[in-house]
Amino acid sequence: MAIFGKMVMSTYPPIFGRLVEDLKRVLGTEVSKDKVILTTSFSKEDQILTWAVLKAGLDVDIVSLDTGCLFPATRQTWKATEDHFGIEIRSLLPDPAEVAKFQATQGLASIYQDVSSRKSCCGMRKIQPLQKACAGKSWWLTGLRKEQSSNRAALEMVEDAPDWGLQKFHPLIHWSDEALESALVLTGVPVNPLYALGYASIGCAPCTRPVLPSEDPRAGRWWWEQSSKECGLHRG
Ligand code: SF4
Repeated sequence: MAIFGKMVMSTYPPIFGRLVEDLKRVLGTEVSKDKVILTTSFSKEDQILTWAVLKAGLDVDIVSLDTGCLFPATRQTWKATEDHFGIEIRSLLPDPAEVAKFQATQGLASIYQDVSSRKSCCGMRKIQPLQKACAGKSWWLTGLRKEQSSNRAALEMVEDAPDWGLQKFHPLIHWSDEALESALVLTGVPVNPLYALGYASIGCAPCTRPVLPSEDPRAGRWWWEQSSKECGLHRG
């Protein structure tokens, strides 16, 4: 545990206190790993959300989708995050039989040629493992923000997610880019080094490229598609 835990909450700016209070207010007192899941891709937002959940002392199931296609830098950030917070982040893996079948019948290169093939890949590596992890849970915590993309501008802090059998809670939904950058400095959480190379939204390596300052932050995801730039985990 490097920096985490050295400062008391009252020494942070008010936005941090509101974040922790929102978590406690919406989730209530009966928070447990059986009921609340937090998915992290080690994005800037997810790092601050993890920080807040741990600061609030909430016993949440913190997981990450180990798709088999992550950047090495993301794996390094995963390890740095576990060391920083002194926690283990549970890995959600795809079914090896499904992966082998996809490789044999379609192959990873097919995702660039066919949207349905790309969606099959996301379904196998992301949606199915997460659906299993969400079974029986009441809340899914995400780091989504309205400013991340035009798709996400209409999101509310809490939304019903009947397809997942729970409610989604986006505690950072109203955070600005500036607030997020300040929070990263103040908390000292690990930051994926790919951000410094121009990546604005970081997913699987085959499906993520850096973006220009003038582009939408999600433009580097599935850049060859004219799609909503979502993999099926969130509404597009
Ligand atoms: S983001 Fe790309 S590599 Fe990752 S699961 Fe989806 S299609 Fe497959």
